[in-house]
Amino acid sequence: MKTVGYAAHSPTSGLEPYEFSRRKLRGNDVAIEILYSGICHSDLHTVHGDWGEQPYPLIPGHEIIGKVIDVGPEVKKYKVGDSVGVGCMVDSCQTCDQCHNHEEQYCREGMTATYGSEDRITGEITQGGYSKHIVAREEFVLKISDKLDISKAAPILCAGITTYSPLKTWNVKKGTRVGVIGLGGLGHMAVKLASAMGAEVTVISRSTDKEKEAKAIGAKAILSSRDESALEAAASSFDLIIDTVPVKHDFDTYTPLLDIDGTHVIVGQVGEMDEPVTAPLIMGRRRIAGSLIGGIKETQEVLDFCAEHNIHPDCEVIKPEQINEAWDKLQKENPSHRYVIDMTNLKVS
Ligand code: NAP
Ligand code: ZN
Repeated sequence: MKTVGYAAHSPTSGLEPYEFSRRKLRGNDVAIEILYSGICHSDLHTVHGDWGEQPYPLIPGHEIIGKVIDVGPEVKKYKVGDSVGVGCMVDSCQTCDQCHNHEEQYCREGMTATYGSEDRITGEITQGGYSKHIVAREEFVLKISDKLDISKAAPILCAGITTYSPLKTWNVKKGTRVGVIGLGGLGHMAVKLASAMGAEVTVISRSTDKEKEAKAIGAKAILSSRDESALEAAASSFDLIIDTVPVKHDFDTYTPLLDIDGTHVIVGQVGEMDEPVTAPLIMGRRRIAGSLIGGIKETQEVLDFCAEHNIHPDCEVIKPEQINEAWDKLQKENPSHRYVIDMTNLKVS
């Protein structure tokens, strides 16, 4: 299928319109017209080469909402007209213990990412959601409830699942004291989801400038990570910290904020961190952990959780021609919401 997207041709080229083809439908494939596509900070990391060399041209985007326009003959779950989503993965081996355990993100053979990965059958490079159409096997397509506003649901497919998964893994419930470092795309979803689970949520930001935004989405308080006395007063006051900071930073500011047995979960920086001092870990049986997105079953669960609790990401909807500007603002202005690209008027020539 002939289609169009916004591709980067090098780490520094910016994104520009690019015509390409989506594969012919395989038996278990779903063809989707993309309506909305979220902008995740991972798109910037990937294209800029922060996580290693990339195949270009590369179309990023792994927060995808659209409508089914065609299905292969073996597809059972979807029909033309259904509202659907695609997140960060489009395939995995489907046979290893992790895939059987519904944790395809930890597939022993490596999952196939929505963009920049090799297709498991043809070796072709996968291309993401900043485009008019996508084709994906039905096991990696998600159902979107009618209760969700499709213009605002896309970020649930990455920012939502990436924060929901550790909240579930560490058993967040009523009264759990959760700290969220960084109030951006992931951070604001962490606040909304943890609050809906009954947790007491504090945003840990680089200043208290985002206090109004934090409280408007359910946080009880905001703590500046640059205010020594506020940090001291907050010592031992969290059971779980979700860390969404996208760059190298230190652990030592945050570890003392955990109570005994508390856990600091890194979901942001992939790569080096400053070396931690071990004393606060040892003295409080505190832990440092990591977490990668979530499996398909859990992604469906967070979509349904959001539908049930009327949780929508805070979205600023932009036109495709504003993508480069939005990338710039994401890096310079650190908004406490997500940019979502409206693909509905993008035309294939
Ligand atoms: P984002 O919208 O840019 O938000 C990041 C937030 O981190 C900012 O709003 C800011 O919050 C804080 N921050 C930014 N620069 C900082 C710095 N130099 N020092 C300290 N804090 C800083 O990004 P996002 O889309 O939420 O993504 C966050 C990270 O998660 C990215 O690295 C992304 O690649 C990663 N990610 C991981 C997974 C996974 O599966 N583990 C999935 C998706 C994304 P304040 O202004 O409040 O300080
Ligand atoms: Zn993402």
